[in-house]
Amino acid sequence: MRHTATGWWIEEAGAPEPSAPLDGRHEADVVVIGGGYLGMWTAWHLLERDRDLRVVVLERDRCGFGPSGRNGGFVNGYWDHVPELAERFGREPAVRLAREADSSVRAIGEFCRAESVGAWYRPVPQIEISTAAAQDGAWRASVDGLRELGHGDEHVYLSPEQVQGICRSPLFRAGAAQRTAATIQPARLAFGLRAALLRRGVGVYEGSEVRGVDQSRDGGVVVRCRGGRVSARAAVLAVNWRTLRWPGLSRELSAASSHIVLTEPVPDVLEEIGWTGHEALADCRRMLHYFRTTEDGRIAFGWGGGRMVYGAREDPRIDVDAEVIAIAADTLRRFFPALRGREITHAWGGPIDVAPRRLPIYRSNGALHAGWGFTGHGVGPSHLGGRILAALALGERDELTSLPLVEPDAKRFPPEPARWIGGSAIRAALVRKDALDERGEPVDPLTAGIAKLPKLLGMNLPR
Ligand SMILES: Cc1cc2nc3c(=O)[nH]c(=O)nc-3n(C[C@H](O)[C@H](O)[C@H](O)COP(=O)(O)OP(=O)(O)OC[C@H]3O[C@@H](n4cnc5c(N)ncnc54)[C@H](O)[C@@H]3O)c2cc1C
Repeated sequence: MRHTATGWWIEEAGAPEPSAPLDGRHEADVVVIGGGYLGMWTAWHLLERDRDLRVVVLERDRCGFGPSGRNGGFVNGYWDHVPELAERFGREPAVRLAREADSSVRAIGEFCRAESVGAWYRPVPQIEISTAAAQDGAWRASVDGLRELGHGDEHVYLSPEQVQGICRSPLFRAGAAQRTAATIQPARLAFGLRAALLRRGVGVYEGSEVRGVDQSRDGGVVVRCRGGRVSARAAVLAVNWRTLRWPGLSRELSAASSHIVLTEPVPDVLEEIGWTGHEALADCRRMLHYFRTTEDGRIAFGWGGGRMVYGAREDPRIDVDAEVIAIAADTLRRFFPALRGREITHAWGGPIDVAPRRLPIYRSNGALHAGWGFTGHGVGPSHLGGRILAALALGERDELTSLPLVEPDAKRFPPEPARWIGGSAIRAALVRKDALDERGEPVDPLTAGIAKLPKLLGMNLPR
């Protein structure tokens, strides 16, 4: 097994030659910090609003080498959040958010077609499946809530027979399907987006870590890297979990890691278990497993049960954690016994930016506009985030900037070390509870009590 930080998608896609780092003084209309999906979609949407804008992207490493090039490739929206959001914000903003997110799911496919990006975009439903009695009905509040709101088609029940008809596993029980979703090859999308930005004249500088942003008296910004600086009317911060380093923003975020294992091509096994429709599947654990197939007949199987990150520390186990990979590989084989004797060829991982309510947050401070907190669901939502940040950076206020994700009431995690100690204890309890549930064994009162803590604190974690 080839266990690396950056994983198979990036190898398969073939990374482009890196661009030169920023050197000297530059001027732009908007400077984007971070060359993942969020930063690159922001640059794209800035130019969709005004073709003549001068846009610069500064990336510390290489565009798409972070989670944007390594994720599971599930592209989804927000219908399952709507009942809960309708209670907090009212029905209209909640439904509007879900519709905007759906239009982003579709727009990613349209972008791939229009820009000839072969990112394996496939519109497929996203299916949640129970693998234990304790997970049964995990989708009920969403499915029933959406029915009451008149949007019952968006998220529907699946019987155990329907689930087995999509993919056979001895562990699978009933489930539910969200109809508007897709899958992509994540690195192909990231590199395709980078190439499209270059074609449109965006200045993309890699190996260019931003060290600071100074807001000037005239309302603009100066963004500083080691080799140079960019003066602009506005800056956009799109640095995922490294937002933890940003003064004033770190308490609305914590970080943990997620990992993926990948099989050799097993088209015969996919035939045997009937999983030939490329559906995006996930179980209903609190630390969920997510799994999909590739164009060459592999299974990519991810698990969100990696470690918590202390503060913004660079811990190599965020990307490469042999312990987590071993658990994910074991579970994959339990889910699909037909894989006996077949090889797991690749493994990798990456950081997840966890927001207190599982939804991303968009905030502005003067001419600096930031987005973060996708909580493992950023592939589709980062396209919507790019649309929001482009509007904010241009000072335009419209239906996007009035969505409930923009300037929400702050919910804060405790400062370190309490965040790490508390977060690690909760994650360990959730992993333990998930495993006991799946074995049908009773959950001890201490584990059950700790697992309930996030809800009691008004946080909606994780999944
Ligand atoms: C293993 C794994 C599986 C996942 N699976 C899914 C999935 O199936 N579906 C889904 O929706 N989401 C998934 N996610 C989450 C998804 O990948 C992210 O939400 C999304 O890629 C976030 O994009 P981003 O642009 O915010 O972050 P990133 O891709 O991390 O981009 C941020 C960029 O900012 C750069 N940067 C940081 N600091 C600086 C600085 N100071 N100066 C300049 N540049 C800087 C980084 O190098 C990085 O390239 C997964 C994540 C992981 C790790």
